[in-house]
Amino acid sequence: MSKRIAVVGSGPSGFYAVQALFKSDPEVRCDMYDRLPTPFGLVRGGVAPDHQKIKSVVKAYDKVAEDPRFRWFGHVELGTDITIEELLERYDQVVLAVGAQSARKMGIPGEDLPGSVSATEFVAWYNAHPDFQQHEFPLLDVHDVVVVGVGNVAMDVSRMLLASRAHLEVTDITDEALEQLQRSACCRVHVLGRRGPAQAAFTPKEIQEIAELDGIDVRVKDDEAVLDPLSAAWLEAEGDRAARDNVAFVQAHAGPREDRDCAEMWLRFYVQPVEILGDGKVEGIRVEKTRIVERDGWLACEGTGETEVIPAGLVLSAVGYRSVSIPGVPFDPKRGVFPNDEGQVLDGGVPVDDLFVVGWAKRGPTGLIGTNRQDSVATVNKMLATGVKHPAKGPDPKEWLDAKVPKHVNWEDWLKLDAAERARGAEKGKVRDKFTVVPEMLKHVDKH
Ligand code: NAP
Repeated sequence: MSKRIAVVGSGPSGFYAVQALFKSDPEVRCDMYDRLPTPFGLVRGGVAPDHQKIKSVVKAYDKVAEDPRFRWFGHVELGTDITIEELLERYDQVVLAVGAQSARKMGIPGEDLPGSVSATEFVAWYNAHPDFQQHEFPLLDVHDVVVVGVGNVAMDVSRMLLASRAHLEVTDITDEALEQLQRSACCRVHVLGRRGPAQAAFTPKEIQEIAELDGIDVRVKDDEAVLDPLSAAWLEAEGDRAARDNVAFVQAHAGPREDRDCAEMWLRFYVQPVEILGDGKVEGIRVEKTRIVERDGWLACEGTGETEVIPAGLVLSAVGYRSVSIPGVPFDPKRGVFPNDEGQVLDGGVPVDDLFVVGWAKRGPTGLIGTNRQDSVATVNKMLATGVKHPAKGPDPKEWLDAKVPKHVNWEDWLKLDAAERARGAEKGKVRDKFTVVPEMLKHVDKH
């Protein structure tokens, strides 16, 4: 009998796993599950609306979905609608491709004040993720916004805060987010790096893109553009092209600049957040100057004791993502990942039969979309090497699913939603006008 595999999660790592499985075995059948009635995970809900070129990667996933060995079951949540035990019983092997849905915490006082939110929430909100449409951000009367972290997510949210209507209105941002962002009084974003320019986590392309947008002035304080001796020596000896380009960019944007009628994005370095301040809502953030130190062969930072308050009405923490645990599946709460050996899930160090993991849920929230391809191939190789320990039992799992979760949606349903979103978008001059409410999606495909 052909092998039956369940893949949970329909983001990039899930699709790359299916692609590798199809390549490895002409007989294999893959059923992919997603808790939303829409596929593509972070490509749909994470990649910024003005990065449509990056989103076009879904064409490769569409090809996978056209394969007759593939089925997609949307609007089915592992852990609530179905259990891991049920999947392991009905499939030969199960692959978790559930990504990293929640945000890391900064762990500082005041983090829970209204107006202090994770970039993860903000991104999901403007990208139409149905779970985040009721979230409110104090955009209207806020002039200064602080973004903590200097990775690509920090770049995305800063750009969305400062970009013009013309730049955003043609994208697939929700109408609500577009209106709120455009009515926002935000004219200054302070992006905080706790280490120096040599350790900035953004890629040169992302920061360059912001600098090239009309109406945004990227600025750096003179003293914060200077490399400390440890970083200078590291850059000279080991720095890669990206780190060198980032340092060159930062240094080119330091110093006095001609005053223009522009929104400002201040890239700050050597400052770590210590406390979010405010009476009932965010009014500012206290940061501490840092110095770079060598720790276990790594350039880390430590506080100097010198502090500064940056007034701000909104603080977005963009300090990384973490996975959410699933009932019945071993989880490492410290790292926010599913512990694994080359992709096979481990329980207290012991391999769990037939259970595997890919993508951010496996290795943590690092790398670009393409990074997931090799990562998924590696897990599939492990799946082939270990073989199936407990073969699937019973008839086609669809019979069980139809009975257990009758309102699940399939790929044809998604294609209907996709066509409707594109058509609605075309009427408004946008690439796509996304559904934001699950019952509306279900109604559109007659699954309500
Ligand atoms: P990231 O690249 O890991 O950046 C996280 C940033 O947060 C770093 O600057 C980190 O500084 C800082 N940070 C962590 N903990 C902190 C703390 N407690 N206090 C202050 N700062 C702290 O993560 P990300 O921006 O979430 O991105 C995740 C992945 O998605 C990355 O691989 C990214 O490239 C990718 N991505 C790509 C795109 C794109 O290509 N357009 C867009 C979005 C995301 P340290 O370095 O000092 O730890």
